[in-house]
Amino acid sequence: MGCNVNFSDIIGQNEVVSSLKAVLRDDSARHAYIFSGPEGIGKRMVARIFASTLLCSGRNSVERCENCQPCHLFSSGNNPDFYVVEAEGASISVDDIRRMQQDICIRPMYSGKKVYLIAEADKMTVQAQNCILKTLEEPPGYAVIILTTSNSNSLLETIRSRSIIYNFRKNTDEEVKSCILKKELKELEGIDFIVSYADGVPGKALTLIESEDFRLNRDKAIEVILKLKNSELICIFDIYDFFEENKDNVDSILDIMLLFYRDLLIAKKSGNENILINSDKKDIILKNVDGFKIGKLIGNIAAIEEARRNIKQNANYQLVIEVMLMKLQEEKI
Ligand SMILES: [Zn+2]
Repeated sequence: MGCNVNFSDIIGQNEVVSSLKAVLRDDSARHAYIFSGPEGIGKRMVARIFASTLLCSGRNSVERCENCQPCHLFSSGNNPDFYVVEAEGASISVDDIRRMQQDICIRPMYSGKKVYLIAEADKMTVQAQNCILKTLEEPPGYAVIILTTSNSNSLLETIRSRSIIYNFRKNTDEEVKSCILKKELKELEGIDFIVSYADGVPGKALTLIESEDFRLNRDKAIEVILKLKNSELICIFDIYDFFEENKDNVDSILDIMLLFYRDLLIAKKSGNENILINSDKKDIILKNVDGFKIGKLIGNIAAIEEARRNIKQNANYQLVIEVMLMKLQEEKI
């Protein structure tokens, strides 16, 4: 995979970016870095920019030249001084780390450095972590190892203490929006609700934009909510089918339902339609808001959160969903 982005393309993450630029400016790269932050926040992209700039032989302080051989090789994904370790299955094994260690013994071919990126480093088995620790204790002078993780707590303390840790923060909604616009997507309808759902993570926003399922599921989930409200007697079992089909991404369905009830609550309490997350569904929300009592909406939100907790704790899925649906339908004063 190539790399055609630069630090100037990174939106937000000012602390991380300015600190990495200082490292490049002073030529003071250390041997190990941990980039920690939510999945989809851009850790790997920043790691690749940092790596390609470190390897560039014609770099001007903090920007790579894009013309030298290391830059060309990097862009085409063939720079032998850049090595990526990532999980092929569920985990990064001790063998994966041993292969990397064999490579690390070979001196750099084109640059003064060799950069190793271990993506989703928390997927390393304990053995793998202990194995890499040996390298972190005595790395060759030219080696720079970057570990990215959304869960740095699952890395051994001994690994963390030997690394410089950079924390990637969630972006603001405005920043997420800029990231989306940067990708020059043509269809930007409904972008506001996607930004809200993305919760400060640009990668999540981009995934949602591309996901046809997300839009369909949102429409269906809203339909479920309205059905539960408007019918005296409906068959919970029919509605359950939708949840059965979406067992694997029930978390996202529950999110959608939560945010819809949240919008109804906001519309009810404040009447301010400008702060609705589902801004493109404003008409439906305003049309239905009178039919809900505040206490009922709060109760429904609690019922969904309870269902989510129970599913996480491996309770019987069908039972949890049916109980939730009954609570959502129940009249409450
Ligand atoms: Zn270059």
